[in-house]
Amino acid sequence: MSHKSFHPHHRILMGPGPSNVNPRVLTALSHATIGHLDPQFIELMDSIKTLLQDTFKTENEATFVLSGPGSLGMEACLVNMIEPGDKVIVCTGGYFANRMIQIVEKIGGIAVPVKENWGRAIDPQKLEDTLKENKDAKIAAFVHAETSTGALSNIKELSKIAHAHNCMVVADVVTSLGAAEVQVDEWQLDAVYSCSQKGLACVAGMAPVSFSEKAVDHIKSRKIPVQSWFNDLNLLTGYWSGQKRSYHHTAPSNQYYGLHEALLILKEEGIENAWRRHKENSAKLILRLKDEFNLEPIVPAGERIPHLLAIKVPEGIDEAQVRSDLLTKHNLEIGAGLGELAGKVWRIGLMGYNSNEKMIDYFISALKKELHKH
Ligand SMILES: *Cc1c(COP(=O)(O)O)cnc(C)c1O
Repeated sequence: MSHKSFHPHHRILMGPGPSNVNPRVLTALSHATIGHLDPQFIELMDSIKTLLQDTFKTENEATFVLSGPGSLGMEACLVNMIEPGDKVIVCTGGYFANRMIQIVEKIGGIAVPVKENWGRAIDPQKLEDTLKENKDAKIAAFVHAETSTGALSNIKELSKIAHAHNCMVVADVVTSLGAAEVQVDEWQLDAVYSCSQKGLACVAGMAPVSFSEKAVDHIKSRKIPVQSWFNDLNLLTGYWSGQKRSYHHTAPSNQYYGLHEALLILKEEGIENAWRRHKENSAKLILRLKDEFNLEPIVPAGERIPHLLAIKVPEGIDEAQVRSDLLTKHNLEIGAGLGELAGKVWRIGLMGYNSNEKMIDYFISALKKELHKH
């Protein structure tokens, strides 16, 4: 086998993530590598931290980045917040909330699911009822934008209910951050995590997290130490805050340059403007899907993630073949269904850098060509 440098075809990434990366971010990634304790790097970390506070809409001091994908953020929030034997209410109507349950159980927590139909927002009444039946629950966990189904839950409401029942909140804002409204402080989300490759339009591999003061106190007063070395907040804060920083792990410095640039781009646009842009482009895409193909999201209006639509595959269409043809003939990637929805839906993302009219036009014309064949 002969080897040569790798040059992938350019793809339009309109699935559930990764989304395309802003060229400014790609340039930032290629800057000279520096050490993870270089004073310049510490300055960059501090800048990332404040940019992230703006993005999360929080003043939480414990706001930083983990070197790993969104799933690492999920594991970090849960492993810090939950002690073995703790009862955790997990609202689930999709694949990613089910992953939360798996992690809770691995940690030794007792997961009590609040089950919702796939493709619907979590019904706040169901959470309320479950909390009434489980007065010893300590944590409520939910997903804001359930990427597997396209449903967006009202986590402001869910969080209010959880706090009224003396639960702290762990919230997944992996797909929402940067693209849909997220208000960590106002909504009292105690531990939140996200990723770099969806709404933030950066490369994958970094997980922004934020912990409220109450969450930090809770973690510090645990009886059983955090059962993870890498994710222990108490150790991570030694690297991310204070006058003197100490080595925790070798942060992938180039990746962090990219994240910094992505957050800066978002700040330049204005986060509220970014939320609006995602909403408007989604509305345009929904109209065109309906007009040109009579295709509709499976999620009812009012419960949809603006920038990630799950569309029912029309009868008699080989959905995998269409996806494959879109990829090989149009360099266009869209997502398949996951879990219960495997084979039943296409997931179409208009996230971050891709949320614009040009992408909608490209997608519609490519889909038209492929659907005509079937
Ligand atoms: C993508 C996603 C994750 C996992 O993120 P990775 O970066 O793939 O590990 C978790 N939760 C939700 C809602 C997601 O969409």
